[in-house]
Amino acid sequence: MAQLLDGKAVAKILKEEIREEIVQWKEKGIQPKLAVILVGDDPASVVYARSKQKVSESLGMAFELFALPGSTPEADVLAQIEKLNEDQSVHGIMIELPLPKGISKEKIMAAVRPDKDVDGVHPINRGYILSGEEGLFPATPQSCIELLLRSGVQIAGKHTVIVGRGETVGKPLVFLILKHNATVTICHSKTPDLGAFTRQADILIAAVGRAKLIKKDMVKPGAIVVDAGINETPEGICGDVDFEAVQEAADLISPVPGGVGSLTTALIMRNVLKGIVLQGGKL
Ligand code: NAP
Repeated sequence: MAQLLDGKAVAKILKEEIREEIVQWKEKGIQPKLAVILVGDDPASVVYARSKQKVSESLGMAFELFALPGSTPEADVLAQIEKLNEDQSVHGIMIELPLPKGISKEKIMAAVRPDKDVDGVHPINRGYILSGEEGLFPATPQSCIELLLRSGVQIAGKHTVIVGRGETVGKPLVFLILKHNATVTICHSKTPDLGAFTRQADILIAAVGRAKLIKKDMVKPGAIVVDAGINETPEGICGDVDFEAVQEAADLISPVPGGVGSLTTALIMRNVLKGIVLQGGKL
């Protein structure tokens, strides 16, 4: 039976590190601050924004929510971003997605200053992922890597098979995990005989959005399985991996909930602190 890759335990350690670093920044006269822009009232986005506020405040980070009506013109959202770009007391800016119809996601993502882009969605940060330069990178792929490393898994040299090439998780993860010297294979919806690839994985990472897609016979005995998927089903939230069955084959497996998703908010906070350094701050 597999052991758990325990996201909650790793998140607790990460938050403690972030809390300590915030104290150090404050001693240097800098109060780290995250600003979140929420346009409209998408229920999931409202929950995510509140959760960021709760975590920020619990860590000693300042937080400000800019809740704009769904009818706000694109130009006004861009003007709000520009104000925050120039505001030296704000170190991280995050725009909750999805945006209402009529507002271009691409324009909005490109408007945030790259060194304040804590969601890692600006084209410059996407480029830095490819080039290996320091930048701000999306939280979920970082969560997969932190969960592995902090659970004592050696990534270097391992054949890592990623299922999913989405812009938020799979694609950035390819380059971030490559930096840790994994040998990477990436699969997607056009991959014929998915199991033939996943069975070769030392580390298998699912980032698809299809409930229980990864079955026991698709996993090599002794593999390490990381499940980034979040799927709502009539039975509740579940991942992309058939957890009950796959845990009988894997050595280590991350649960959903309680795995990858537990780390993401903390990693956004860590991005705010990295942003301070990219903006010229020194500890
Ligand atoms: P996405 O953009 O929709 O990408 C999904 C990927 O899965 C695509 O590359 C797609 O292939 C591939 N795919 C779909 N069906 C497949 C199949 N049957 N076999 C193999 N590949 C298949 O999704 P995303 O935004 O990257 O998110 C992926 C998952 O992560 C979702 O469950 C999402 O909820 C979750 N997520 C979790 C967190 C967290 O905090 N834990 C954060 C963000 C997202 P094509 O490219 O060929 O279409």
